[in-house]
Amino acid sequence: MNALAQRLTGLIRAQGPLSVAQVMALALMDPDYGYYTHQDPFGAQGDFITAPEVSQMFGELLGLWLVKTWRDQGSAAALHLIELGPGRGTMMADVLRAAARVAPTFLAAAEVTLIEASPRQRAQQQQRLAGAPAPVSWSATLKLEAFTGPVFVLANEFFDALPVRQFQRVGGKWHERVVTVGSHGELEFAIAPMAAQALVPSPGRPPAREGDLFELCPSGLALCENLSAAIARQGGAALIVDYGYDVRAGFGDTLQALQSHRYVPVLEAPGEADVTAHVDFAALAAAACHGGAAVYGPRPQGPFLTALGIEQRCAALIRSEPGAADALTRQLNRLCAKDQMGQLFKALALLPQHAPRPEGF
Ligand code: SAH
Repeated sequence: MNALAQRLTGLIRAQGPLSVAQVMALALMDPDYGYYTHQDPFGAQGDFITAPEVSQMFGELLGLWLVKTWRDQGSAAALHLIELGPGRGTMMADVLRAAARVAPTFLAAAEVTLIEASPRQRAQQQQRLAGAPAPVSWSATLKLEAFTGPVFVLANEFFDALPVRQFQRVGGKWHERVVTVGSHGELEFAIAPMAAQALVPSPGRPPAREGDLFELCPSGLALCENLSAAIARQGGAALIVDYGYDVRAGFGDTLQALQSHRYVPVLEAPGEADVTAHVDFAALAAAACHGGAAVYGPRPQGPFLTALGIEQRCAALIRSEPGAADALTRQLNRLCAKDQMGQLFKALALLPQHAPRPEGF
């Protein structure tokens, strides 16, 4: 049993079972043993590889998308460019480089804020973005009320890291799934004996059956609604890219732990594997509608990037560096093919009600 499992066991013995969300939060962000606070998760050597780490084309296209939405709304002279959970900082570097190429005025107007809870990741981002062409600052949490004027927000594989609560249908009622200590002292899942009150799963689902499992991401929904309200009020846009359920969500356990590109049991070695859950886009879109912004998508990543011109960008890169043709073609395929990241990953955009329809949707 590792040190974080011991810490969790101690907590449970002292105060009773923990929710799945509490365990997920500690597994990712415990100050001493959390996954994001003490491991380097990204890239071919790490535990998983994200779209910006697959290819520079991803961040570049998102940068051009931002410039277009900014122009569509009248090219404000001051804007906040915010990224949630920037990982290694690669995507923001690509976004800024692409934006600088096509719209120096966008960069001159931009103040960049990176929202990062892990000091370790923040240090990597600081290194990566030293010498960035716009002022960059950091914050551990997003304080939207601190921003005046339009906010342009990017989030790639951020919402999947926000803790989910799980509920199971037992005897016609929803009971919370919790983590407790088994008879051999190990961490194990259990079902809370008391039913959870007034729990209504998000729209678009089939009627629940006995044994069904329902996931709820309270912090993700609240964040999405707040972003939406800020965008509706102040202008700007949010582009959320993540993997998750389609619009008509079903029920099911999507909590997963990934270590060295392989799935491992979630409770086996907490803090040593990345723990995520699929993003419930139907629920996010509903929260966003409630916040007041216009909502576009979710659209699968493949068609989204294709509509933004990834094939043309790839061809241009190949022309300027023919030796990299194979690598670039592989990257394009990885990001867009249905059996790769093209279908499971989805993009959701929030814009002010009056703004023109964004590119790619
Ligand atoms: N966007 C990056 C990294 C995705 S991993 C990429 O695509 O490569 C998730 C990132 O979000 C990490 O940087 C992690 O440290 C950060 N993170 C996770 N939960 C967070 C939270 N609750 N608040 C702030 N940052 C968080």
